[in-house]
Amino acid sequence: DAKRRGRNTWQTFTPELARQQHDRVQVEAQLRRALENEEFRLVFQPLVNLADGRVRSAEALIRWRNPALGELSPDLFITHAETTGDIVRIGAWVIQSACRQMAAWRKAGLAPARMAVNVSYRQFLTEDLVPLVAQCLKDNDLPGDLLELEFTERVLIEDAPDTHRTFEGLRQLGVVLTIDDFGEGYSALNYLRRLPIHGLKLAQAFLHGVPGNESDAAICQAVAGIAQALGLDLVAEGVESSAQRDFLLGLGVRTGQGFLFSPPMDPDAFIAYLRRTSP
Ligand code: C2E
Ligand code: MG
Ligand code: MG
Ligand code: MG
Repeated sequence: DAKRRGRNTWQTFTPELARQQHDRVQVEAQLRRALENEEFRLVFQPLVNLADGRVRSAEALIRWRNPALGELSPDLFITHAETTGDIVRIGAWVIQSACRQMAAWRKAGLAPARMAVNVSYRQFLTEDLVPLVAQCLKDNDLPGDLLELEFTERVLIEDAPDTHRTFEGLRQLGVVLTIDDFGEGYSALNYLRRLPIHGLKLAQAFLHGVPGNESDAAICQAVAGIAQALGLDLVAEGVESSAQRDFLLGLGVRTGQGFLFSPPMDPDAFIAYLRRTSP
């Protein structure tokens, strides 16, 4: 009881800060054991051809359900995992699991043409990324171009000494390289020329106001122009309405992803969706 009163007193001084600190320690402690406890799983969202709705590829997205904390958003816990360094192990698990899933789908006779996996900044910087990807492809008997890796703009802007070597190593494996959430942070247009990137994913925020909001529409149009001029593939994320889809088609954007088509799904539901949308 005394302990409880003491804690309450302490909390009245800096309640919000104390709670945040407590949450952070909690999340980080649980995160450390989450892999061993098998608390992660992957869900898959289709990337579709905007013109006919057919599935082009799948994006693997991690989910974490913890007995004490419930279901946490990856936007939140990936940030924590970056701070603690756990992202390296977790990220490796994601790549392995996504490749294993792709191999299983192929074996079963129905698979998307490609699997996209998110790679965080810290994970990108580890020396093992290229050998890890090579091993996962080999273990699962997958050609490199069946795997796509999505990086954030931070990889471009920080331009660490090994960035080029890592991109070249991945490219030599045949892996498709894409910049995620393009335009959301600081866009580094000059690096788009120097690094061997295949495509861009337009940050979701620019689609929200489209087609009504003129500046959002102008930004989408500008990014579509950059992609086209540089010969890069462009994917629009967060497509929620048919008006947005039609607007994108008008800009020449061919691929989209979003709730208009489907939210991320468990593997079985993904395959059911793929079957349903294939002729
Ligand atoms: P992201 O890679 O840009 O993924 C797109 C996010 O937008 C996903 O959120 C997806 O569920 C959501 N989304 C898709 N369509 C729509 C839509 O039409 N409307 C709206 N409002 N949202 C849509 P999710 O799964 O919560 O992931 C959030 C972020 O967490 C991801 O953004 C990615 O940066 C990160 N993340 C997720 N899984 C992984 C992973 O395995 N590794 C790493 N390093 N990061 C991951
Ligand atoms: Mg992504
Ligand atoms: Mg994105
Ligand atoms: Mg994102």
